[in-house]
Amino acid sequence: MAKPHVLVIPYPAQGHVIPIMELAQRLIKQGIRITVINTEVNHKLVSNNWSDKEGFGDLMQMVWIPDGLEPWEDRSDIGKLTLSIIQTMPHKLEELVNMINKVDSCKVSCIIADGCMGWAIKVANKMGIRRAAFWPASVATLASILSFQKLIDDGFINKKGIPIKHQIIQLSESMPPIKPENLGWASFKDVATIESSFLLAKECEEASRMTEWFICNSTTELEAAAFSLYPKLLPVGPLLASNRLADQAGHFWKEDPTCLTWLDQQSPCSVIYIAFGSFTIFNKTQFEELALGLETSNKPFLWVVRPGMTKEATLDYPDGYIERVGCRGRIVSWAPQQKVLAHPSVACFMSHCGWNSTLEGATNGLPFLCWPYFADQFHNETYICDIWKTGLRLDKNEEGIITREEIKSKVEQPDQLPGQKSDLVLHDKRESRSPY
Ligand code: UDP
Repeated sequence: MAKPHVLVIPYPAQGHVIPIMELAQRLIKQGIRITVINTEVNHKLVSNNWSDKEGFGDLMQMVWIPDGLEPWEDRSDIGKLTLSIIQTMPHKLEELVNMINKVDSCKVSCIIADGCMGWAIKVANKMGIRRAAFWPASVATLASILSFQKLIDDGFINKKGIPIKHQIIQLSESMPPIKPENLGWASFKDVATIESSFLLAKECEEASRMTEWFICNSTTELEAAAFSLYPKLLPVGPLLASNRLADQAGHFWKEDPTCLTWLDQQSPCSVIYIAFGSFTIFNKTQFEELALGLETSNKPFLWVVRPGMTKEATLDYPDGYIERVGCRGRIVSWAPQQKVLAHPSVACFMSHCGWNSTLEGATNGLPFLCWPYFADQFHNETYICDIWKTGLRLDKNEEGIITREEIKSKVEQPDQLPGQKSDLVLHDKRESRSPY
């Protein structure tokens, strides 16, 4: 009998690709044949940075369809990318499915698409293929998307998703409260991007009505209230490669494993790990303040400075910085993050609070210093600081900068960094953690 053949379609962003690749590998373990469909650019990045990809034989294939942008166009312009995806990808997917069904002995039996790729669920629906949506972020964020019509009716946002009332939204009593301007689609600076992100949110809600399941990278332990709002939401998280003692797949950048050797040389629970995911961009002042804050806090630190993390073409550390910090600080361009966070030398996670990072830090019982940048990250910060109580906020000054003094002061308050005793920790690493 032919094996089930599932097409897996991530939204083209790092924080979406990594967890869906983990889901794909778990489905393969069940004997299911998987075809992962990325955009062309991401297909190349993921293939180049994944050494284990041949290990699954014919159960795993990776293919691409175009996102509609020219190779040189800016894919960090989310508004432009979104519109191009919606225009181009649906008929390309349809062509691909027809082609697979013609040439492959395993016909397509199911499509699992990221909730932000609602168009793919519509294609599956139209072609009579079974389908499920996948949600890589918090269920609280998904709940706000699925409730968009109520948010319009209650006057929080207008029909284009733009916040019009500055009052806190509370979808249910124990859900994290959220300001309308921090809703996933509304946290962008320009109206055009808010409107196109809202379009994705509406497509997601529409797709949710065409699927049997919304597979969520979360757990009821973390998000009981959010899960109880919608019965279709299926908790399968946290989808962490580290739970299988395996390497993460789906990276856009090459991991630098040498930082693990450096961590081996540090004292237990002594190192601050600083990483802001794949999207955060700092201006020169903020970058310098962070560098100097880490220098003056006098603790060992491992800092991920991703290519393109500052607005400037070249990264300018303060004069003499690298020499002064010496081997107390380790700077890498991309870390094997799940392994870093599980390392016994790490004491604390300074994070932008992307959902994957949030799950990865929480799973290891780490206290957080929260520095959200955009999208769902403010919502996640609320979970960490106010609901789970496993972290502290880094506060901005009047100019919108987190100063070196603020960084030093928060890093040096170990007794104010909870985390290690939290009931949140999802496996038995919890006992080993105590900051510094
Ligand atoms: N990540 C990594 N190495 C790094 C920084 C990040 O492997 O140096 C991974 C991290 O483990 C997480 C993903 O990249 O799985 C980032 O996802 P997240 O949702 O935290 O943030 P986003 O990039 O979507 O803002």
